[in-house]
Amino acid sequence: MYTGKGRCACAGITFGKVLHIKTPEVVASDRDCLSVDQELELFEGALSKAATELDRLIEKAREEIGDEQAEIFEIHRMMLEDPDICDNIRDRIKKGGINAADAAVSVGKEQAADFEALDDPYMRERAADVKDVTGRIARILRGGETVELTEACVIVADDLQPSQTVALDRSLILGFVLRHGTQNSHASILARTMNIPLIINSNLPSSLDGDGKAATESEEAMDLTGHTIGLDAVKGEFFIDPDQSTITKLMAAKDAFEQQRIRQLALRGQPGISKTGHRVYTFANIGQPDDVEQVLENDGEGIGLFRSEFLYLGRSDPPSEEEQFKAYAKVASAMNGRLVIIRTLDIGADKQVDYFDLPHEENPALGLRALRICLTKPEIFKTQLRAIYRAAARGNIAMMFPMVTRLKEIEQAKAICAEVVAELKSENIEYGEPKIGIMIETPAAAVLSRQLAEHVDFFSVGTNDLNQYTTACDRQNQNLGDFYDPHHEAVLELLRQIASNAHAAGITAGICGELAADPELTDKFIEMGYDELSVSPGAVLALRERVRNSEAVCLSSLKNPKISLDPVKKIHS
Ligand code: PEP
Ligand code: MG
Repeated sequence: MYTGKGRCACAGITFGKVLHIKTPEVVASDRDCLSVDQELELFEGALSKAATELDRLIEKAREEIGDEQAEIFEIHRMMLEDPDICDNIRDRIKKGGINAADAAVSVGKEQAADFEALDDPYMRERAADVKDVTGRIARILRGGETVELTEACVIVADDLQPSQTVALDRSLILGFVLRHGTQNSHASILARTMNIPLIINSNLPSSLDGDGKAATESEEAMDLTGHTIGLDAVKGEFFIDPDQSTITKLMAAKDAFEQQRIRQLALRGQPGISKTGHRVYTFANIGQPDDVEQVLENDGEGIGLFRSEFLYLGRSDPPSEEEQFKAYAKVASAMNGRLVIIRTLDIGADKQVDYFDLPHEENPALGLRALRICLTKPEIFKTQLRAIYRAAARGNIAMMFPMVTRLKEIEQAKAICAEVVAELKSENIEYGEPKIGIMIETPAAAVLSRQLAEHVDFFSVGTNDLNQYTTACDRQNQNLGDFYDPHHEAVLELLRQIASNAHAAGITAGICGELAADPELTDKFIEMGYDELSVSPGAVLALRERVRNSEAVCLSSLKNPKISLDPVKKIHS
């Protein structure tokens, strides 16, 4: 038995036969090259076959996982006409001495490397798309077929491409284990959308020797097809050729996981009220309008954090006012009166875009980020604010500013809001009046929270940043070991003060950082008096269950808050 570890990107427990999928470019070329003209002709034929395959895939993706996810393949379809890719392949063939498949693979590798070198993590993800498209062309040229699943299996791979993920028959996929991958890669997003257990960043072996030990390391040599595998994507463990006692343990864990899910689903429609009577609203975090489906499925009582910057990432120009208005209005309308808190643009640090012409920074986490950009470039801010104010006429929308450090910034932001309102009014454009809150995610804002609370309608604590700025531990750095402590006592003390200061000023306190979902802290958050916790959609019901089972006594509760966390029936305009 081989025991491996990785990071869970979609929770679940499963067991089955392995199907190992290789990325197309590792399939070695098996023929000499023909004449340049013949290779060019083969290439053009492969392009049109790839187009037909992608057209079918777009249809399948639209039907099975929705329009937004299908866009990935529309991008691939466009790449088939992209001169940067295709003319490059043609030029390489014309130079002679290389067959069309190898030319496609080498151009794909080079262009993917260019994308991988970019700072913006979302542009880096484009590398996978280029490899996917050029790999498809190479596979067609080499006479390879797409993988057809004939029986239920667990897919293992070095990495998985979005088109591979969607082309597979989802009813036969039991789980995924990848050596690489990130939480935000397309494959992870798709697996979560399909709710298939996924472990990424794992020590998946290339192959196994007779003793169940990892053998070689290269992907070419890797072939685990036919082995059995057990996957615990709750703990982040997997077992290849598990022994009987491991299988028994996994089956018990799977049963418990499924029973727990059934129990949690029964909590839909039930409020999060602790045994001691403290009401905690269980909200969800989203990054894209389509995520709202998951929120509704898991009965999120509201959206506690709409990371609006996701609308800005991975593109060459910013989203227009109209585009943003539609996105916000769509979410608000789907939530049907439940509160939607839009966090204004939080670009900077690890979320970079090219088109705002921002200077290169040595230390972007401490640089021109989030509200700082919006206050420095009000024209950018105003476009978003207009969209938010307009959408607030269509649903129960509030907004909050990220990375606040002091009152002056709130005053400046509110002054820009007032200008926007005056403009909309003079243009006779319908708008609503969203409540205005702030994220508390800098130690400065936490220290000043007593004062800041007097000037806003609610607080939402961003514990991811609050921890990194308080403990001086980069949230992206995996080498910090125990120095990075999510339960650091300084952060917990700040959390206590923030809730107490919010309540003293009559406003609600919420948490929308990852810590909100931490099972070990639910009782503490109730004691501190937190009114709202916002977590990923799939974690909402587990949180609600913990709240309902909690016997913790709340030390700081609130009556008549400035913002209501309950759904509203009638929307003002
Ligand atoms: C946070 O910092 O905790 C937060 C919710 O914001 P983000 O993770 O998007 O920076
Ligand atoms: Mg943050």
